[in-house]
Amino acid sequence: MPVESYDVAIVGAGPGGAMCALGLKASGLRVAVLDKATFPRDKICGDALSGKVSEALSMHSPDLLKDFERFSEKLSTTALRLVSPRGDCLEIAFTPRHYSGSALGHISTRLAFDNFLVEKLRGAPNISLLKSCRLNSLSVDATGAHLFCNNRIIKTKLVIGADGAHSLVAKRLANFTVDPRHYSAAVRAYISGIRDTRPENYVEFYILKDILPGYLWIFPLPNGMANVGMGILSSALHKQRLNLRDKLLEILSTHPLIAPRFKQATIVDGVKGFGLPLGSRRFQISGERFMLVGDAASLIDPLTGEGIGEAMLSGNFAAKQVLDCFEKNDFSAAAMRRYDDAVYGRLWNSFQLHSFLQKVAATPLIMNFLVRKISRSTAMKEFVASMVEDFDARKKLASPSFYLKLLFE
Ligand SMILES: Cc1cc2nc3c(=O)[nH]c(=O)nc-3n(C[C@H](O)[C@H](O)[C@H](O)COP(=O)(O)OP(=O)(O)OC[C@H]3O[C@@H](n4cnc5c(N)ncnc54)[C@H](O)[C@@H]3O)c2cc1C
Repeated sequence: MPVESYDVAIVGAGPGGAMCALGLKASGLRVAVLDKATFPRDKICGDALSGKVSEALSMHSPDLLKDFERFSEKLSTTALRLVSPRGDCLEIAFTPRHYSGSALGHISTRLAFDNFLVEKLRGAPNISLLKSCRLNSLSVDATGAHLFCNNRIIKTKLVIGADGAHSLVAKRLANFTVDPRHYSAAVRAYISGIRDTRPENYVEFYILKDILPGYLWIFPLPNGMANVGMGILSSALHKQRLNLRDKLLEILSTHPLIAPRFKQATIVDGVKGFGLPLGSRRFQISGERFMLVGDAASLIDPLTGEGIGEAMLSGNFAAKQVLDCFEKNDFSAAAMRRYDDAVYGRLWNSFQLHSFLQKVAATPLIMNFLVRKISRSTAMKEFVASMVEDFDARKKLASPSFYLKLLFE
């Protein structure tokens, strides 16, 4: 097989890899973006795009954010419903003062959204998008890296591992192993014909006592369908010996609030599952001549399970570090540590808080109390709404005084 030479090889063209490549578009560096899939491709996901997605797009450039705002294959959401294990409902309608940008969040199939990002790479003279190119093994030494793929060998000075939850780059170069206490399993299905969806495009979360720590979600999609799924911490899944797919189907047909709405519903393409490496533990996500981004670096929010925005933010930081490496001609592990600092500087505080809140949310008694109390108080609803973008307000959820205040509310 011929050997192709590049300055940078990005393994994986999901949101993390694509954002990193976009950050190198004007660099003049020769960049290979290789993916085992051919885009547009699906990725098993809940399809919810949080505020971090908009943050990452605008961090890249205000024009990219504007393009996303014009992107029609998404649905904007401004309301949330949280259902406690006992079945109480907390509904919050957000207004523009609660979020920056055009909505609280968006929902878009990964088939459409990931392709939106990849399309932005096409035509860039310094970027080679290598489709159906699967990395099978790699080796790194002080002079560079060799990537052995199904259809080519790539020689490069720097490797970006953006190859998702089952990252080969993370396993080989960062000795990553799965720890079920910091990993979740989730399944999702595209479902049509669900009753009682609301014009505000509610994103719905159900805390169920059999699925803890975790939740079931119903997210409406632009095409009249919904993404319906369920995730749980892997250590709890193993302990309970749950079959998540069967459990999801059971809940959809028996839960008193859900089942009546799903009577006429049809599952479009089966129930599919995938892993979520959580950011509740911190490890080294770079080393000599490599960086890991997104799921490959275990950057999924431990409470919400969101990782798209996190992957994109880390892709931005990785691109900045690549430019720095080439400017200084320094690809050492010490130089790469600046990347770890940037990523964890942005995400670690919230990962720590959300790890704590993951445990709070896994206690049915507390969730029953919280949902009932907050749903009855306009002031508390307003406070919860303000937490979405205010990290300091969210920190109050970790303080006993918050719960005491609520008790006497
Ligand atoms: C069921 C489920 C629901 C979720 N819901 C949400 C949600 O609603 N919102 C949210 O923000 N996050 C959600 N997540 C997490 C989210 O899907 C990930 O965090 C996100 O996809 C990470 O992006 P990434 O670019 O790091 O990896 P990916 O999107 O996984 O992209 C990795 C890319 O690498 C390619 N690749 C993999 N191996 C190789 C190889 N050997 N050679 C070449 N290419 C390779 C793949 O084809 C893929 O295109 C969910 C995850 C699951 C499993």
